[in-house]
Amino acid sequence: MTARIIDGKAFAAILRESVAEHVAHLKQTKGITPGLAVVLVGDDPASQVYVRSKGKQTVEVGMHSYEYKLPADTSEYDLLALIEQLNYDLSVHGILVQLPLPKHIDEALVINAIDPAKDVDGFHISNAGLLATGQKAMVPCTPLGCLMMLREYCGNLSGLNAVVIGRSNIVGKPMAQLLLRESCTVTVAHSRTKNLPEILREADIVVAAVGRPLFVQSYWLKEGATVIDVGINRIDQADGTTRLVGDVDYDTAKEVAGAITPVPGGVGPMTIACLLANTVTACCRAHSLPEPKRLTI
Ligand code: NDP
Repeated sequence: MTARIIDGKAFAAILRESVAEHVAHLKQTKGITPGLAVVLVGDDPASQVYVRSKGKQTVEVGMHSYEYKLPADTSEYDLLALIEQLNYDLSVHGILVQLPLPKHIDEALVINAIDPAKDVDGFHISNAGLLATGQKAMVPCTPLGCLMMLREYCGNLSGLNAVVIGRSNIVGKPMAQLLLRESCTVTVAHSRTKNLPEILREADIVVAAVGRPLFVQSYWLKEGATVIDVGINRIDQADGTTRLVGDVDYDTAKEVAGAITPVPGGVGPMTIACLLANTVTACCRAHSLPEPKRLTI
């Protein structure tokens, strides 16, 4: 069997197009332009790349992008003051604080200082609680993108066995909540899980969010499984260059899986597209307007 390749880049382009259409509609009919504020503290190179890309795509879909680049020694107090200012700013509908933050800043404190209605990353404790209790929440972008792709490829997910590898607050746990909401039978695996290969052999859906390069082996997978690879890992090559790989041994897994996301070009592009979609959703909620169905789940 050779798997269908789940083209996250193409999915993301379609989603961005829907976002752009809705932004244009909001501007024309209501005179409202959604705005996304991105806050970066410090000069982590990977974070700088992500923030640049987010800002560029925000502008491309017609929204306002507000970037705040603060020095690495910014105090927690000053960062919280900026968030408070953005919480009150009516032109800002979404606020994203790029993680990780410098060690002297309490990440949870900062995330929970964001107005939950503007928390387009979906990391605020209120949004986590709403999602866990099956209520309307801001859904974290990466799991949201994964679910959109799963729905497209698998159709009705009800009754399927899903295994999520990883239990982080930003990927694993919300992914498990979303799959439960779809009536999957969900297993969450983590570093203490015993017999992971045996567990995976029963899985119709595998979501790998481990952060270990090429960790999931093809012979652990059930024939025909749908595999979503969230991992982004850089590995050194013999020629001194680095290569981006996922958490799944893609080259062999695609011979067993029914459908699989590549890395790069799978989950990554969908994550930013979902951030833009969440910003439009937040804007509609802020103005008590109907939420665009195509932009959420
Ligand atoms: P974390 O490091 O927060 O979580 C990793 C999880 O993997 C933990 O729950 C850990 O278990 C589990 N784990 C570690 N080793 C094993 C093992 N041997 N067997 C089973 N489980 C194991 O990572 P994130 O969730 O933040 O990210 C995961 C990956 O996804 C990373 O590569 C990251 O770069 C990528 N990522 C990609 C995004 C995208 O847009 N494509 C967005 C966000 C993340 P335990 O809890 O027991 O320690």
